[in-house]
Amino acid sequence: MYYQSTRNSDLQVTSSVAIAQGISADGGLFIPSEIPKISMEELKALADMNYAERANVVFGKFLTDFTPEEIAYCTSHAYHVKNFETEQIAELTGAFDNAYILELWHGPTCAFKDMALQILPYLLTTSLKKNGEDKKVVILVATSGDTGKAALEGFKDVPNTEIMVFYPDQGVSSMQKRQMATQEGSNVTVCALEGNFDDCQNGVKKIFTDHAVKEKLANAGKMFSSANSINWGRLAPQVVYYVSAYVEMAKRGDINFGDVINVVVPTGNFGNILAAYYAKNMGVPIGKLICASNINKVLTDFIETGIYDRNRDFYATCSPSMDILISSNLERLLYLLTDGDDKQIREWFGKLSTEGKYEVSESVKEKLKNDFVGGFCDDAETKKTIHDFKEKYNYTCDTHTAVAVKVYQDYIAQTGDKTKTLIASTASPYKFSASVLEAIENAESNADEYAQVAHLAEISGLPVPQSLADLQNKAVRFSEVIQKEDMENYVLKKLNIIA
Ligand SMILES: *Cc1c(COP(=O)(O)O)cnc(C)c1O
Repeated sequence: MYYQSTRNSDLQVTSSVAIAQGISADGGLFIPSEIPKISMEELKALADMNYAERANVVFGKFLTDFTPEEIAYCTSHAYHVKNFETEQIAELTGAFDNAYILELWHGPTCAFKDMALQILPYLLTTSLKKNGEDKKVVILVATSGDTGKAALEGFKDVPNTEIMVFYPDQGVSSMQKRQMATQEGSNVTVCALEGNFDDCQNGVKKIFTDHAVKEKLANAGKMFSSANSINWGRLAPQVVYYVSAYVEMAKRGDINFGDVINVVVPTGNFGNILAAYYAKNMGVPIGKLICASNINKVLTDFIETGIYDRNRDFYATCSPSMDILISSNLERLLYLLTDGDDKQIREWFGKLSTEGKYEVSESVKEKLKNDFVGGFCDDAETKKTIHDFKEKYNYTCDTHTAVAVKVYQDYIAQTGDKTKTLIASTASPYKFSASVLEAIENAESNADEYAQVAHLAEISGLPVPQSLADLQNKAVRFSEVIQKEDMENYVLKKLNIIA
């Protein structure tokens, strides 16, 4: 197996090169040349393994130029109770009628991004070593709030790496901002941008693919890579938890091996749900992939009409990690659905950047609808869902997970589908305490952040994650806000490449 660019199928590299580079030089995303299979026998065999061992099996199928020892080194360091507050790593809850919540937020930064970003530094440094690359890697990150912190935690003080994170100044929760502004480590930089997440992502992508910048970096003995979900090293780890959750459900007797489940994913950049699509196509019995959006419902419309149109108002919501109008990983799905038609992908994504819009072919529309269901809800519905779910089941979910729960409930109401369903829970409610409290109590709170956290602990009964509790006494290290036009200069200055 090799990895090709979604914009040039002839470009072929190994998985370690794809991970080291992050994004292809032509602006395309790296994608495996085939989807490896996992048989029912193999799935059954996973039942007796822990999470890291299950990850070894899945990685072995995707990272074909890594040795088993290299893979085991990465997984055993990342998926360990010293990094996650639960031994299961990804914690499967009991049933809420036919729904099971997969809590992906027991890592150090309390969002699902840790599932991939705890292991990415190991995968990346191993990839560099394998390829004899001695340049220092500069990780540039655009974040809508959670990726940045998870990447900072993953890469802090990792030798031979440097990490720079850009986030939208007005686009993250106060806990998210505090997490990033107080980040420790000698190789980290955090900077806010006057703009939204798409501005951050476009800026980073532009710097990445600029040849002149690349050359300047190379002359200084450095190279860029990405910790965003455009990096395959982010995607592969996400496939693992869908495989593992299925096995766990069967092991517990929630389902029998072979039974089909549906999966609901609160979606922004389309990385998480794409991982579920890969799990399905590997052979995990998954039926519908339900793509849940907030009011920035560009994906709901796309699944419905086949027209991707980012020319619309952008809303800052109470589920900020999904406030995105350009979902990067959709490019990988479309490459798969067109059987690798790189010319077609270049045309559509060219249109996206010039006109902000493209329409896919009839055959792609049909394939999309076979696998995916789209739905969305607004902030009022999100909060009502948090409230009602807590009242009915005494389970407190965060704002992003609540979007998924609501879209799932709407889907059930419309279809009567009784299939057992896995709902991806992407963040701890403590990361969005203000919104969650407001939802549960039907009243806005003026208390300070930590009073809110304490109050939420009382009414939810959930322990406060240690990492969030510790933030209260940490000093702010980063408070700069820059304009989007200044990103490139800012990066080059920080790297001491220009004065
Ligand atoms: C990143 C994020 C999402 C969106 O995930 P994608 O892979 O970008 O679709 C949803 N919820 C939370 C809490 C997140 O941090």
